[in-house]
Amino acid sequence: MASLATRVERLLDGPRPLPIVQAGDPVLRTPARPYAEDPLEPGLLAALIAAMRETMLAAPGVGLAAPQVGLGVRIAVIEDTAAVPTSIALARERTPVPFRVLVDPSYEAVDDELVSFYEGCLSVAGYQAVVARSRAVRLRCTDEQGRAVDEELTGWPARIVAHEVDHLDGMLYLDRAVTRSLTSNENYLSRWATPVPDVAGQALGF
Ligand code: ZN
Repeated sequence: MASLATRVERLLDGPRPLPIVQAGDPVLRTPARPYAEDPLEPGLLAALIAAMRETMLAAPGVGLAAPQVGLGVRIAVIEDTAAVPTSIALARERTPVPFRVLVDPSYEAVDDELVSFYEGCLSVAGYQAVVARSRAVRLRCTDEQGRAVDEELTGWPARIVAHEVDHLDGMLYLDRAVTRSLTSNENYLSRWATPVPDVAGQALGF
């Protein structure tokens, strides 16, 4: 396979926003390679990060992992500054996440507390499902400057980090989802967009 730099250059020569790989492509099911094993020169890394951010915001989404644009390398971007109703923000602990880059990230649960909410994925377009995830996670990675990060996140930011790092491990949220909760985006928006998925649980049987 061509070097990461060559593949990134080819990708950046193509259309913007970058095409988002959909479920069924093996790149989404293959553990991504540590970035530190084959780093890019700083200008190319910056260009890749800018293209990933543009793609995430255009989708729109709150996170994007490199395998979702066809690159099996452990880089993800996250950003969540969307205005959401207060009731939803409170129930889901959806606090704003400024733009940031996760390089070679990993996470672990801080404790046993799980919280269940609907989530979706740009690589499984059109659907959402309930996933039980740790309310708080410890994130370890570096940023795009190579500075070490070791911090705890709680609530929706923890969910975003876990979802994106799972991508780098070859997992999709559906692997962890309550399958009976699966809903089209249209049905989610018209029926199940409540702060917590209790009404959906009663109606759909999960
Ligand atoms: Zn995803």
